[in-house]
Amino acid sequence: MSVTGLPPYDPQNIFARILRGEIPCKRVHEDGFALAFHDINPQAPVHVLVIPKGAYVSAVDFGATANDAEIAGFWRAVAATAKALGLEEGGYRILSNIGPDGGQEVPHFHVHIFGGKRLGRMVA
Ligand code: C5P
Repeated sequence: MSVTGLPPYDPQNIFARILRGEIPCKRVHEDGFALAFHDINPQAPVHVLVIPKGAYVSAVDFGATANDAEIAGFWRAVAATAKALGLEEGGYRILSNIGPDGGQEVPHFHVHIFGGKRLGRMVA
C-alpha cells in the first residue's frame, strides 16, 4: 500500500507511460523533476497537468516519501509551467485529487493547473 492507503504504485499507469515516451503528450515544460502537459479533456481555457518524474501515487505519498530536492524541484516546475503559460499575472488554480472519493483517476501524483479566465468558486 502507498502511505495514503491507496494501492501501490502501478508502473503501467498512463502517466508512467507518458513519462517513458510510450504515449504522446502536448508538453509545456520539462526538467529533471517534472513534466507538464496539456490535459486531453480540458476543463478550463488553460488546463495543464504537472507530474513528478518519480513514482508517487498521490500528493500525500509524494510529500511523505520524496526527498527534499524532488519536492522543491516539483513545485518550482509548477511555477515554471504557470509562467510558460502566461498565467503569472492573472493567477490560476492548482488542484490535486487523492483516491476514489477525491476523484483521482490516474494513480500517479499530479497537479492540475486551471487558468485563462476568472474561475468561479470551487464546488464539491
Ligand atoms: O485527477 P484525475 O486523476 O482525475 O485527473 C486525470 C486527468 O488526466 C484527467 O483530467 C484526464 O483528462 C487527464 N488525462 C490526460 N491524458 C491522458 C489520460 C488522462 O490528460 N492520456
